[in-house]
Amino acid sequence: MKTVIIRDDDTHAFTSSALLDKIYGPSFFRRGFNVSVSVIPMLDTSARIGSKNNSFYRRGYEYEPFIPKSRINSGFHDFRKNSAVSVWLKKKSVEPCLHGYSHDIRDFSSPNYTKMKEMLARGKSIVEGATKRKVRVFVPPHERLSKSGWRAVADSGFRIFRNVIRPLKDAVVSVPLGEYGLSHVRGNFLYGYNGLVQYKSNKELGTMNPYLFSCFWDLKQSFEDACKKFDSSHVFIMANHHWEFLINTKMHRYWSDFVDYMAQHDFASMTASEAFAKLKPVNA
Ligand SMILES: [Zn+2]
Repeated sequence: MKTVIIRDDDTHAFTSSALLDKIYGPSFFRRGFNVSVSVIPMLDTSARIGSKNNSFYRRGYEYEPFIPKSRINSGFHDFRKNSAVSVWLKKKSVEPCLHGYSHDIRDFSSPNYTKMKEMLARGKSIVEGATKRKVRVFVPPHERLSKSGWRAVADSGFRIFRNVIRPLKDAVVSVPLGEYGLSHVRGNFLYGYNGLVQYKSNKELGTMNPYLFSCFWDLKQSFEDACKKFDSSHVFIMANHHWEFLINTKMHRYWSDFVDYMAQHDFASMTASEAFAKLKPVNA
């Protein structure tokens, strides 16, 4: 039996519930899938694309592509304004997670522990207030997490759902050294972890290859690669950006084919919180 964990990133004040419904609709849930949705509590509409090597930047996007064009530079927007998506996130098979605060690349890569604790408390109360659900999982925006950030997230009671967990790099950049035990050396310390990683005081979920479908990719190839990755993983973890489906609407067909493909197998789909509770750590 395969474990399937699906995440969707960058839900915010202007996200459309109809779009989420189109990607994760009744047939997705009826077949037993769950999705963990990472929510930006206070979207900064002036956030620019960090790196000029980014494929969106090369295609003319100056700001984060998920900010609606008409809203660029219109200040900060509170997720609580989005009542349609707040209701959508109450579904039983959906888990709202916290995705940073404003999505600014600097928010959680700073050394300012106190400021990050504040952003975590405010962000959590915004998403919990909107959805009336407990928010227990933090997804770092841009994969940026400093050691103070990691500590602030852990001290605020969150589990961490990352993309790539590279222990060697993390030991320098993200994870406080005291968190590593002998079990980490026995695991895949040099390359990276796929699955649940146990630290001294917290747990992280991570995958080496999180995004399997993207709007500028060859989607037929992506579909075939996704099937191969699904077949070869005991714990299959992937993420989508719902907003990329607006840029390339062909993604809907390939995603729906992939949902059909997964559904033909023997699987148990889990939200991130369920995975934290049930999975055995890869470094146990
Ligand atoms: Zn993001």
